[in-house]
Amino acid sequence: MSVIGIDLGNESCYVAVAKAGGIETIANDYSLRATPSCIAFSGKNRILGVAAKNQQVTNMKNTVYGLKRLLGRQFRDPHVQREIQMLPYNVIEEKNGSIGIKVNYLNEEHKFSPEQCLAMLLTKLKDIATTALQTPINDCVISVPSYFTNNERKALLDSAAIAGLNVLRLFNETTATALSYGIYKQDLPSPEERPRNIVFVDCGHSSLQVSVCAFHKGKLRMLSTASDSNLGGRDFDSLIADNFCKQFQSKYNIDAKSNPRAFLRLLTEVEKLKKQMSANSTTLPLNIECFMNDKDVSGEMKRADMEALSAHLFQRVEVTLRQCLEQSGLSLEDIHSVEIVGGSSRMPALKQLIEKVFKKVPSTTLNQDEAVSRGCALQCAILSPAVRVRDFSVTDVQSYPITISWDASPGGESAGEIEAFPKNHAVPFSKMLTFYRQEPFSIRAQYSGNIPYPDRDIGTWVIKDIRPNAEGKPQKVKVKVRINIHGIMTISSASMYEAKESTEPETPEEQQQQKEPQLNQQNSTEQQQNETDAPMDTNNGGAAPEVGSGSSWTKKISAWFSGEGDKEKKKKQTVKSIDLPIESLTNGFSAVEIDQFTEQEFKMIASDKQEKERADVRNAFEEYVYELRSKVSSEDELAPYILESDRDALVLQLDDMENWLYEDGEDCNKQVYIDKLAQLKSIGEPVQTRKIECELRPVVIEDFAKSL
Ligand code: ATP
Ligand code: MG
Repeated sequence: MSVIGIDLGNESCYVAVAKAGGIETIANDYSLRATPSCIAFSGKNRILGVAAKNQQVTNMKNTVYGLKRLLGRQFRDPHVQREIQMLPYNVIEEKNGSIGIKVNYLNEEHKFSPEQCLAMLLTKLKDIATTALQTPINDCVISVPSYFTNNERKALLDSAAIAGLNVLRLFNETTATALSYGIYKQDLPSPEERPRNIVFVDCGHSSLQVSVCAFHKGKLRMLSTASDSNLGGRDFDSLIADNFCKQFQSKYNIDAKSNPRAFLRLLTEVEKLKKQMSANSTTLPLNIECFMNDKDVSGEMKRADMEALSAHLFQRVEVTLRQCLEQSGLSLEDIHSVEIVGGSSRMPALKQLIEKVFKKVPSTTLNQDEAVSRGCALQCAILSPAVRVRDFSVTDVQSYPITISWDASPGGESAGEIEAFPKNHAVPFSKMLTFYRQEPFSIRAQYSGNIPYPDRDIGTWVIKDIRPNAEGKPQKVKVKVRINIHGIMTISSASMYEAKESTEPETPEEQQQQKEPQLNQQNSTEQQQNETDAPMDTNNGGAAPEVGSGSSWTKKISAWFSGEGDKEKKKKQTVKSIDLPIESLTNGFSAVEIDQFTEQEFKMIASDKQEKERADVRNAFEEYVYELRSKVSSEDELAPYILESDRDALVLQLDDMENWLYEDGEDCNKQVYIDKLAQLKSIGEPVQTRKIECELRPVVIEDFAKSL
C-alpha cells in the first residue's frame, strides 16, 4: 500500500509518494510531473489531465477547469458569479441554489456538480499514482489553501470520497510547504532555544498565501497565515491580455473578447510571454497566426510595462505580506529567512517586494513547484502506519475566528455566544462547553471577522434527548466543539451527566462510573498532541456555559461530585454519562448522495476503461493493416515469401480494410476489431513464418556441419 500526497493546484496538480528512500514526484501518462487541473467530455469518454488541456481549444464548452474556485459554494455567491465570467463552459443554478456544470457527454446533456467534477480529476491523479507505483492507492493527504472555509473543505472531502480516496488530512498548502522545509533541516534549534521563524510565500495561479512558522527540532508551529484569495498568476495574465486586446482593436480592428476561442489562445500566449518576461527585461514579441478573421496579429511588451500595468496587484501583495508579519507578533529581527514557492513567485517584482518588506533576499531552498505535494506526502507518511518516517509534529492554525451561539433555555440559561476559536488558533483542537439544560437545544457556529465568503454560517447542531432530572431540574450537558485535523469545525460529541440519588445497591458499571467519570469520546485517533488543556476565559455573565478542554472539565466534575457528596453523605449518588444524539445541519452532500455519486463515478471509470480498450484494439488492428501491407510490398521483407497473385489479393483486401476503418468500422465494438485482426493474422503470420524458417535454414545446416 502506498501513501501519496496531492497538491491540488488551480492550474496544475502534483502527486508525490513517500518511499523508504525519500519522497518522489510521480510522472503522469505523458511523462510530465505536472497534471493540468482540467477534465473534458466527449461523445465517447471523459478526457482527464494533460489530454483534456491539449484538446481545450477545440472542445471549449466541454472542458472544465478552475474547480477549486467553485467548490462548496452557491451559484449566487458573488465570487462564483465573478468566476463564471471567465469560464467558457456552461455553469447553471440548480434548484437548491447550488452549482451545476452542464456538458455534452456521450452525445447527451449531462449535469455534474463541481464536487463530482473534482472527483473526476482526483480519479485521474489516483490512476496516475496506481499505474506508476503498481499498488492500490487508498490513503492520501490533499492540499487546500489555508483560507478555505468549512464548506470548501467539506466539499473537497466529498470529492475525495466520490473518487474512493481516504483522506488522512486536508493539509493547508503553506503548512505542507513548511513541513517539506523542516523535516530535512538538521540544524533546527532544540526545544529550550528560541525558535527559527521562517516566512513562506506561495503565489500560485489564483491566490497568494503567506505564513509565518516557528521551527524547533522535530516540530513546527504555524504562527499566522494571511492570504489574498483573488491574487495569482491568472490575474497578471488577464491584465496583459486586456492590454493586447486594446492594441489589437486599434491596430487590426478586431475584438478578441468577442471570440472565446481566440481569447483563450491569446491567454495561452500571454502566459508564455509573462514567463519569458520573468527571465528577460528587454522588449519581447507576441505573435499569433490566424488569430481572428484570418488575420495574424503581433504585439510586444517588456517587463517594466507589465509591472506598471500590475502595480495595484503588487500593492495587494505587499498588504498581505505585512498583514501576516503583524499577525505573527514577530518583528523583522525575529525572522530567519523568507522561502518562496508557487509559479508566480518567479516574478522579479514579487521577489523585490518581499525583500522590501522583510529586508531579506527571498530564498529558494524548496522546489518551487513540488514543495506542497512533497509536504503532503510527508504528512501522509507520518499519519499512516503503512510507512515509517521520522516523526515531525505539526501544529497548524485556522484562518478565521469562530463564534458559537446557543438558544435560551426555558426558565434557565439565556441565549448567548462566545468566540470559541480566535483567528490563528491552533488546529486540531477541542473545547468543551458545559450547559445546564432540561430539553433539546441547538448550537450555531459562525465565522466572525473578514471571510472571503458571503455566508458566515458554518452550521447548526441540535443536541437531542435531553430531559430534566428526577426533580424536574436542568442537567449538566457537556458539548465538545472541535476543529478537526482537516480544519473543519464540528460538534463532535455531547453528553448528559445525570445524577441520581439512591439507596439501591449499585451495578458494577455505575460503581466504575462514579470512581472515574467518563469524559465523552476523546476520539483518540484524531487527537493531536497539541490538543492540550487550554481553558477559556468565559466572562460572559452568569448564564454562560462553562468552557474548557477535556482535562479542566475532569477537575470540575470531580469537584461537583465531592461537593454534592458532602451534603448528604448517607445517600448514595450515581452519575451516569449518557451520550446524546446530535443532528447536524451543515452544508455538503448526505451519505446517500455520496454513495450515488460514487457509484456513478465507478460506472464512468468502467466505461472509460472499456472505451480505452476498444480504442487500443482498433489501433492495433489499424497498425497491423499498415504494417502487413508495407511488408508484403517490400522485396526485403515478405514479398519473396508470398505468391504474386496471393499478394495482390491481400493488398486489395488490406486497402478495403483501411477504407472500412475510416467509414463503417470507425466505431465498432471491441470484439469486431479483435475478430478482424485474428482473421488478418491468419493470412499474414504464415507468410512471416515462411520468412523466419527460410532465414533459419542455412544456420541449421551450418550448425549441423560444425557438429560433424
Ligand atoms: P494555486 O496555488 O493558485 O491553486 P497552482 O498551484 O496550480 O495554483 P502554480 O503551479 O504554483 O499554481 O503556479 C502557476 C502560476 O505560476 C501560473 O499562473 C503561471 O503563469 C505562473 N508562473 C509559472 N512560472 C512563471 C514564471 N517564470 N514567471 C511568472 N509566472 C510564472
Ligand atoms: Mg499552488
